[in-house]
Amino acid sequence: MAKLGKEPVTVADYASQAVVLREVAAAYPDHRIVSEEGAAHFEDHAGASGAEQIVRVVSSVTGAQVTLAEVLGWIDHAGGESNVTWAIDPIDGTKGFLRRDQFAVAVGMLVDGAPVAGVLGCPHFPVDASAPNAERGVLYWGSIGEGAFVETLSGGEPQPITVSDVSDPAGVRVLGSVESAHGDPALVVATIAEAGFGGGMVRIDSQVKYGAVAHGLAEVYIRPRNHPDYRERVWDHAAGAAVVIAAGGRVTDLDGVDLDFTHGARLEVNRGVLATNGLVHDEVLAALSAAEGSAG
Ligand code: AMP
Ligand code: MG
Repeated sequence: MAKLGKEPVTVADYASQAVVLREVAAAYPDHRIVSEEGAAHFEDHAGASGAEQIVRVVSSVTGAQVTLAEVLGWIDHAGGESNVTWAIDPIDGTKGFLRRDQFAVAVGMLVDGAPVAGVLGCPHFPVDASAPNAERGVLYWGSIGEGAFVETLSGGEPQPITVSDVSDPAGVRVLGSVESAHGDPALVVATIAEAGFGGGMVRIDSQVKYGAVAHGLAEVYIRPRNHPDYRERVWDHAAGAAVVIAAGGRVTDLDGVDLDFTHGARLEVNRGVLATNGLVHDEVLAALSAAEGSAG
């Protein structure tokens, strides 16, 4: 199905949101929710076959025989009055998901607007980055003050992770979006040249990029705006930012300002996003500023 702005959405996006919010609603009925999908769009666009699919998928995942009305209720669960907000992107990187490439189930927790915990389910991300065609599927999670962890989706013990200790520009690796329309690839290339970063640039869909920075697989995730009017969405950053900060990294906008999650669904007062290992953060901001200056 197509949404406003031609972003795709699938039955799986809605099913994932229903499964996650079913749990949140049961455990923390009063917590606030900011999530990407709404049931009205599903009802208008999914048709009878979509309705049949979502009931089947949610029933199978939860092990309960659910009804369509229950599923729609979970999708639209909004919680109550609380200083705790769950920021949920049920399938972040839907375009990657449709390409059978990278995507993430992103669940973040904000307390008084600050990211405090995040979980990134990354079913297609390699367990061993040096063996990309071997086992895939990792869960990244972290909470501020308690650290960050990775575990394989097939089971196994969580392993602590930290951001990389690379600070020599020659070794700095950079991540950006696959979708050129979600950023400004030319500006990213100019920034890399300005900073003299020599570790290469890789384009990955979704908040998997935050997981990779938290895991020390890259030093920089940079997301310039494609258009001055674009405002980043809370659910595209809350979970990932929490995981990177918990792993010892730093997350700001492109002016070095902290992300402000207190303006509803959008980061109204921030310009783009920059997540790094912390060590090279100021260098990226300076190089970006120089690259923007020379681009006029
Ligand atoms: P990525 O996979 O990093 O490109 O990010 C995917 C997310 O980009 C989606 O969840 C959308 O919410 C978001 N998005 C959609 N349009 C834009 C845009 N014009 N600029 C930046 N992000 C966008
Ligand atoms: Mg998203």
